[in-house]
Amino acid sequence: METINVKQLGVRYRLVEALKDINCEIKPGRLTGIIGPNGAGKSTLIKAMLGLIPATVGTAMYQEKPLMEQLEEVAYVPQRSQIDWTYPATVWDVVLMGRVRKTGWFRRFSTVSRRLATEALERVGMSEYRNRPIGQLSGGQQQRVFIAKALSEEAEIFFFDEPLAGIDKKTEAIIFQILHELANAGKTVLVVHHDLGEAITNFDDLILLNRELIASGPRQEVLSGENLKRAYGGKVMFFSEKAA
Ligand code: ADP
Ligand code: MG
Repeated sequence: METINVKQLGVRYRLVEALKDINCEIKPGRLTGIIGPNGAGKSTLIKAMLGLIPATVGTAMYQEKPLMEQLEEVAYVPQRSQIDWTYPATVWDVVLMGRVRKTGWFRRFSTVSRRLATEALERVGMSEYRNRPIGQLSGGQQQRVFIAKALSEEAEIFFFDEPLAGIDKKTEAIIFQILHELANAGKTVLVVHHDLGEAITNFDDLILLNRELIASGPRQEVLSGENLKRAYGGKVMFFSEKAA
C-alpha cells in the first residue's frame, strides 16, 4: 500500500497536446476523484498511467517502479463509451473475466474464482441478472457489472472512468458505498467524475485538470472558486459546501 506518484506526465495525440507536465499523488486509503471539463484529459491521464497509451514524457511510479509494469495490481473499468456492448457475453461471463489474470485463459475457473465472482455480483446487487446478456442491461446495471468484475480481481488499485455518468440516484448510492468500502479497506481508488454536483463531497482528494494540472489534494482545498474558474472558465455552477 503505497502512494502512486505521477511525475511530469505528458501525452500528445498527433496534433493535440492532451496533457502537459502532470505531477500529482494518489494515496491509498482515500477516495480520489479526477475532475475537469470535457476533453480535459481525464481519461488520457488514467490510460497513460497504465501504459495503455504512450506518454510522451513522464510516468506514474508505484513501489519504486513504473505502475505500467505492475498491472496485476490494478483493476480498471474504462469509460462506458469504450466498451463494446454488442459483445455476446452474459453478466456472469463478464464478472468471471475478472479472474482470468489469476487463472489463465485456458484453465477452468477454480472454486475460489467462482465464489469471488458470486460475492462481487452480490455486492453490486446484480445476482439475479447473472444469465442476462450484458447488452440487455440499463446503463447503471452495466456499470455495476463492470464494477463487480473489478472487485473479483482482488486488486490493490482501482481505476474507474466515469462510473457514475448517466445513472440513477439509487445506483449512484450503491456505487459510492462500494468505493468508500474499498478506500476504507486501504485500497487506492481513483475515479473520473463528470460533474460538480453534491455527489462530489464523497471524494476525499481531487485532481483538477484542464490539460494541465490546476490543483490536487484534499477536496476542500481543490474546490476553490479560483481553481474552478481556471479549469472551467467564467461562469461555473458547483456545489458549495459552505452554503449547504
Ligand atoms: P476527458 O476524458 O477529460 O473528456 P480525453 O482524455 O478523452 O478527455 O481527451 C483529451 C483530449 O485528447 C481531447 O481533446 C480529445 O479529443 C483528445 N483525444 C482523446 N483520445 C484521442 C485519440 N485516440 N486520438 C486523438 N485525440 C484524442
Ligand atoms: Mg473521458
